[in-house]
Amino acid sequence: MKILMMGPPGAGKGSQSAKVVEHYELPSISTGQMFRDAYNNNDPIGIEAMKYIKDGNLVSDDITNEIVRLRLSKNDTENSFLLDGYPRTVAQAAALDVMLDEMGTELDAVFNILSSNDVLFERMEQRRVCKSCDTTYHLKFKIPKIDGICDVCGGVLYQRPDDTLESVKRRLEIYETKTRPLLDYYEKKGILFHINGMQPFDNVYNDIELVLRDI
Ligand code: AMP
Repeated sequence: MKILMMGPPGAGKGSQSAKVVEHYELPSISTGQMFRDAYNNNDPIGIEAMKYIKDGNLVSDDITNEIVRLRLSKNDTENSFLLDGYPRTVAQAAALDVMLDEMGTELDAVFNILSSNDVLFERMEQRRVCKSCDTTYHLKFKIPKIDGICDVCGGVLYQRPDDTLESVKRRLEIYETKTRPLLDYYEKKGILFHINGMQPFDNVYNDIELVLRDI
């Protein structure tokens, strides 16, 4: 199973991806997460990437394609994986096609998680993330038991530097201009599935699962 999760920032693709990955035991390839991990480890790629991330801009296609290429060259992604947040530009989609071609494979399904801008802004403003295990909380709907502390691992919760109002606006603009055109690209391949992301979490997941059962 080789799947791709798409959707504007805040649509819930990260949380849904985490559940799919756990349930189907898929290797997860999240470029945003790889950049954040590299930054937390003081890796030069992470430090370079954070310059773009904190303002809500995209990291260059070259850097992004390269980290995905390295990740896909590992053995565990031979039969299955879930891509979360990559590709985000037409150039990245073309680069991914070349990588998959070289692997002799292709994507089975692309999910587009839909949401309104009001919901997206609200979600990102209220989002807090664990610095250690990346579990996501919402200050109204998924409240940590102890304020500022992760229920899962006891790590410190923080607001991502790219979840500020200015940064979120920029990310949505970029999504519209650079990422949305990819939907056509995958629609034409006949592998695009639209999912209503404004339902309760479990209903969104059920809709994704209905598709996954058939592929
Ligand atoms: P995410 O965790 O998917 O929301 O990604 C966080 C940030 O990492 C994005 O706002 C971008 O700045 C950067 N990023 C993640 N994936 C990509 C990508 N495929 N291309 C360029 N930048 C990316």
